[in-house]
Amino acid sequence: MKTLFITLLLCLSFLSLVFAQKLKTENVILITLDGTRWQEIFTGAEQRLINKKFVSDSAGLTKKFWNESPEKRRKLLMPFFWSTIKQQGQLYGNRTLGNKVNVTNNQWFSYPGYNEILTGSADNERIHSNDKFDNPNKNVLEFINQQKGFSGKIAAFSSWDVFPYIINSKRNGILVNSGIVEAKGDINANEKLLNELMYEVPNPLGDVRLDGFTFHYGFEYLKKKNPRVLYLSFDETDDFAHDGKYDLYLESAHYIDGFINKLWTWLQSNEKYKGKTTLIITTDHGRGNKSDEDWRHHGGKMPECDQIWMALLGPDTQALGEVKSEEQLYQNQIAKTLAALLGLDYTNEHKPGDIIKSAMK
Ligand SMILES: [Zn+2]
Repeated sequence: MKTLFITLLLCLSFLSLVFAQKLKTENVILITLDGTRWQEIFTGAEQRLINKKFVSDSAGLTKKFWNESPEKRRKLLMPFFWSTIKQQGQLYGNRTLGNKVNVTNNQWFSYPGYNEILTGSADNERIHSNDKFDNPNKNVLEFINQQKGFSGKIAAFSSWDVFPYIINSKRNGILVNSGIVEAKGDINANEKLLNELMYEVPNPLGDVRLDGFTFHYGFEYLKKKNPRVLYLSFDETDDFAHDGKYDLYLESAHYIDGFINKLWTWLQSNEKYKGKTTLIITTDHGRGNKSDEDWRHHGGKMPECDQIWMALLGPDTQALGEVKSEEQLYQNQIAKTLAALLGLDYTNEHKPGDIIKSAMK
């Protein structure tokens, strides 16, 4: 009996050791770039779009983002993606290689996309507008917020002011700093400066906060409050695309790549996050690609707008780089994968998509 007990104990400790080795992630940062196409992520700037019609300085933009080689071109646009993430993480969605990521909702615009990312399920019945209405669906952030050790350790910073409704912070009390909103309470010098600057620079996006503010407000919060799940939601890429400003669309994607680089570098220098933090980066929807004008638009009636991409980087994520195998992933897998990285089994009444198995060793 005693031997059996010791054997059992050894087995259990072995199992817990395996589990501990298997999942090092204690924190997750989810990042979205609204309506950023897989075409630019995987092949960089498009020559046909760098013309006078869509950019103010064709020569300047060509110099900055153009190269004959798609590999060099994408690295000019997204240097962090195509150095650190390519070397240490995973990039899904290069359809020219047969690797596909799609949304499963049939709307192909923002609220339905974010609902799918955050709840793990499409809801075409109830989620079919971008209006400010409280999301009836429970999401993975509030699920995690209810788990032991996570309460009050979740926060979201977004440029678009619909996020308090998409996340339904009224219901779940999750901190959602969204749109033209200042940092409040016990603020530091950086936050004080951001609060002033936000009203002192021209903002062509109106109610949408410029992504630089969203990033720095979120970054200051991360450094100060150490959340275990942080969601950073950027928006400029979508707005500038709708405006037909291809130069600003590219510049925004480039800045955001720089924000992620800054974030990752800091995470690796901090004991609470180093080697324990996974980044999940994706988008809410694709954009058109047929005519020269189509890249500006998206929606359920426009072909290919369900095509998206995703990237992962973290201690449990194998260094597969650009995933070249023929494979189909879906947007509805993100929520369950995010929770699983934290050792949690997320489910809801709509049954979320399966875990992305290749996202964990
Ligand atoms: Zn849009």
